[in-house]
Amino acid sequence: MRNVRPVKVGDCVLDGEHIYIQSMLNARSDDIEGSVKQAVELEKAGCEIIRAAIPNKEAVKLIPAIKEAVSIPLVADIHFDYKLALEAAAAGVDKIRINPGNIGSMDRVKAVADACRSRNIPIRIGVNSGSLEKELLAKYGSPTPEALVESAMGHAALLERFDFNDIVISIKSSDVNRMIASYRLAAEKCSYPLHLGVTEAGTERMGLIKSAVGIGSLLCDGIGETIRVSLTDDPVKEIEAAKDILKCIGKRQGVKIVSCPTCGRTRIDLIGTAKKVEEALKDSEKSITVAVMGCIVNGPGEAREADVGIAGGDGCAVIFKKDGTQRKIKEEDIVRELLAEVDKL
Ligand code: SF4
Repeated sequence: MRNVRPVKVGDCVLDGEHIYIQSMLNARSDDIEGSVKQAVELEKAGCEIIRAAIPNKEAVKLIPAIKEAVSIPLVADIHFDYKLALEAAAAGVDKIRINPGNIGSMDRVKAVADACRSRNIPIRIGVNSGSLEKELLAKYGSPTPEALVESAMGHAALLERFDFNDIVISIKSSDVNRMIASYRLAAEKCSYPLHLGVTEAGTERMGLIKSAVGIGSLLCDGIGETIRVSLTDDPVKEIEAAKDILKCIGKRQGVKIVSCPTCGRTRIDLIGTAKKVEEALKDSEKSITVAVMGCIVNGPGEAREADVGIAGGDGCAVIFKKDGTQRKIKEEDIVRELLAEVDKL
């Protein structure tokens, strides 16, 4: 496990004990009502840290409005304008995402560091392969992991000059290999918490696959304190995807569904059954494994690790439990009977 310097974002402590799920509003920043509504939806879906773009003075009004409606911390996403950072801090935001190297003179960097320090507001430095400084691009030839990490450390050094260390770092790339290599390097070079994400990951399917590979690999290595799955879609889907990634690698409680791919032996509607069971249990916080298998021959054996499961027969199925007990049920009763058994666990 990496030695991380804990950073507090509202009530969330980024120290690796719990991996926090983030998302970002995509309602227009001038639509306060729509933004608040979306923030509430995200919190309800399981979002733990929420980010909003603050592109201008008008958008600073989002901060008190969102803070009043949700209880999770709010991050202001600011580009270039240090005055907006100062205003966001004064408006009660819990974290600011800004790159100090992009805001101009040292006086400005100091002003932001002082404003954040006095209110215990951390700063996230977010480096993207698409917005690497020209000098680093010239030095390395392309946005290599070394170039991206050097950029992030350069931004951090500006804050460190003013004794500001409440820093979180993200080094995102849309290329999964580069993203993984960059975060690994950053994890070696600093002890700041890392915010993981594959940027511009794409639409739901490919975005989820890229994020699962990128974020999942790093988390399995013990790297990463907070994650954002970025999808070209409704941000609520980002939360669902993030939860599933965390569940897969045992970082979140929840039901694990084991289901077979079906084959020529299958005699029941196993695909439909597995989807219904998964949907019914997606929000359950029970740490159990439920197997939905196509046949009696391999089913129970393949699902030996499950707490409860079904194995299909011809127009029927067998419900089996970890204690070794089994009973036969009709095909039309599979979902109801299986969920009833899950309820008892
Ligand atoms: S569990 Fe049975 S039906 Fe499913 S893939 Fe294996 S052999 Fe085929």
